[in-house]
This record gives sequence, structure tokens and C-alpha cells, in this order.
Amino acid sequence: MAILGATGTVGQRMVQLLDGHPWFSVVALAASPRSAGRGYREAAAWTLGGEVPEAVAGLTVVTPDPDALARAAGGTLPPLVLSALDASVAGPVESELAAAGALVVSNARSHRMDPSVPLVVPEVNPQHLALLDGRPGPGGIITNPNCSTIGLVLALAPLHRRWGVESVHVATLQALSGAGLPGVPAMEIMDNVIPFIGGEEEKLETETLKILGELSGGGIVPAPFRISAQCSRVPVTDGHLEFVSVGLAGDPTPQEVARELAGFRSPLVGGADGEGEPGLPSAPEYPIRVLEASDAPQPRKHRDLGGGMTVSVGRIRPCPLLTVRMAVLSHNTVRGAAGGALLCAELALREGRLAGAGVEA
Ligand code: NAP
Repeated sequence: MAILGATGTVGQRMVQLLDGHPWFSVVALAASPRSAGRGYREAAAWTLGGEVPEAVAGLTVVTPDPDALARAAGGTLPPLVLSALDASVAGPVESELAAAGALVVSNARSHRMDPSVPLVVPEVNPQHLALLDGRPGPGGIITNPNCSTIGLVLALAPLHRRWGVESVHVATLQALSGAGLPGVPAMEIMDNVIPFIGGEEEKLETETLKILGELSGGGIVPAPFRISAQCSRVPVTDGHLEFVSVGLAGDPTPQEVARELAGFRSPLVGGADGEGEPGLPSAPEYPIRVLEASDAPQPRKHRDLGGGMTVSVGRIRPCPLLTVRMAVLSHNTVRGAAGGALLCAELALREGRLAGAGVEA
């Protein structure tokens, strides 16, 4: 596979998560013309713990066009491309690569609400990949939701399936890494909270409904409830915390809601008895962890649960306005970006959606 935007916050996480991956190997890395032509170790200002993985440290960064990626990969365009490109350039670049035959899994907002493009949280709406059926060649685009949407959707999905969500209010406290590199200036965020993140509230209010929507007649009918979102940036490095109030049909108790969330077993792992399809390497068996402590979840303590792929939920209690309220935490660059995209890629491979390019699970 190739990684686009490999030098950025999300791209670096992709590189880290793919080091030693059992199914995929990284053969090409792309970023802006500022980075192209330089070795990856030199081009990426590595922000994560540990070293730049040896397997990719010496690769030369290229620009994200089909010819350059094919040359970097030894002559053929890699069949799978994970994109962490800046949204200002992602749209046309990803379309060009899909037209050239690559299956692109994107973190950028550019194609998420395109009616023909699946917007997928693999545990929640894997069936939406059917939007790719009938495409003329092996290429296509799968999108990964906005980082705060993923945590919200994972917490809502089991409740929506069991009782039906009727309304949602969510207020987010979002980490600095969600703003990419170089990020928010220290003098703006230290000792402060910024009650605005451009476009974020609209993404929570629309993407959630597409993901929880029904596949029908070759398209997606959005889920029929309303969401009110308010977003803020806080001085935390990683991990988005969300305060969610949810109205549910059937008026379940907080205890019933907690049981439903804790019991949500991933459809992406093999059977409990070892039978059935093998699990996806990046899928936690239980993607939601319900925490009992009255002061949980907290970004620093809980964002790395399940290697950053587990969403933690706490403070589930009655809501005087809607049915229940709770605090939801997810790691924005792992579950909310690089890890979520990788899980989409694993799902696509297992579903045979790379078979057109000659790659089988
Ligand atoms: P970032 O740190 O700013 O990284 C952006 C990447 O895009 C860099 O590799 C940069 O390369 C590359 N790029 C910029 N302009 C380019 C151009 N003209 N041509 C080719 N490449 C170009 O951003 P990020 O936070 O990683 O986010 C990446 C994408 O994921 C964005 O679309 C963002 O909205 C989305 N996303 C981010 C998060 C998160 O938590 N951070 C979560 C979900 C989704 P250079 O280093 O060479 O400039």
C-alpha cells in the first residue's frame, strides 16, 4: 500500500500502526512538494514516541500522483492507498488515484458525504461498502468519518439498534492533535479553551446520520433523528472527550444502556469458539469499554485502551432533558483516524474488494 500525507499527524500514526502489520506492507509514501524528494526520516518531523520505523525510514517521499506512486513502488500503482492528505488537496488527488485503479481509504472530509462513497465505521455499517459494487474497475474510495464522529457513532450504534435514537445533544472537548501539524499556537491554547472548530459541528450532525442510515435502492437513507453539536479545542495532546445526551425510544434505564454498550461484541472478530471468519488484525473484540469510576473516562488514562481502538464510556446516568447522558472518549488519531482507516482497509481486503487488483485475503 501507499500512504498519502505520510508526514502529517495522521500519516505518522498510519506509518506507526502499519509497522509489522500481518497483511499489509508500505511501499510508497507521499506528501506535499515541500517533502517530495527527501528521505522519510528527514521529511517527517516525527511527533510520536519511539523511532521512525526502519522499514520505511529510508523511503523517498513522492508527490501523490499515480505515476510518482507507481515509480516509488517499483513500477505498479499500489492497489491500496491510505490517505491522510490535507483536505484542501485530498479531493481531486483521491479521485485521480481511484480512476487509476487504486482503492483509496481516506481520512479527509472531501468525499465523505458523496452519495456514492461509503462512509464507514467497520463495526457499525460494514454493509455500506456495497456502494462500491458495480464500479467499473478495481479503483474506488472509502471514507473514514471525522474523528469526533467516530467516537459518537460507536457509542450510539448499539443503542440505536436496540431502542432507536430519537435525538442527540453532544458537546466535545477535542485534543490538539486533531488540528494537524504544526497545530494550534501554544500562546492560543495554553491556559485556555477555544469554543470553535471550523466545520466540526456540521460534520458531527451530518456524518453520524449517514453512518447510522439504511442502505436502500443503491444509496443511503440517513437516520431520521436530529443532532445538536457544540465543539471546543482543549489543551490535551490526544483523545477527544464528548458529553452526550441521547433520547431513546422505549425509555431504557442507565443500567440497561450500560449493559447494551458493554455487551457490544465486534462483528469483525472471529467466532467466540474460534469458528467463522478470522478476525481483522486491528479490531478489538469489544470496541466499547464501560467504565464504572465516577471520574472516568479521562484522555490521559483511557485513550490508549485497546491500543487506541477502544472507545470508553462512563458516567452513564439519567438525563433530565433526554433519556440518558454519558461521557465518551476516543483516541482521535488512532480510532478516529489512522486506526479507523486501517480497519476499513482490512475489512475491504477480507470482503474481496481488492480482488479486482489481484489481491486476495
Ligand atoms: P497534517 O498534520 O496537517 O498533515 C497533512 C499532510 O498532507 C502532510 O503530510 C502534508 O505534507 C500533506 N499535504 C499538505 N499539502 C499537500 C499538497 N499540496 N500535496 C500533497 N500533500 C500535501 O494533517 P492531519 O491532522 O494529519 O490530517 C490529515 C487529514 O486527516 C486531514 O484531511 C484531516 O482533516 C483528517 N483527519 C485528521 C484527524 C486528526 O485527528 N488529526 C482525524 C480525522 C481526520 P507536508 O508535510 O509535506 O506538508
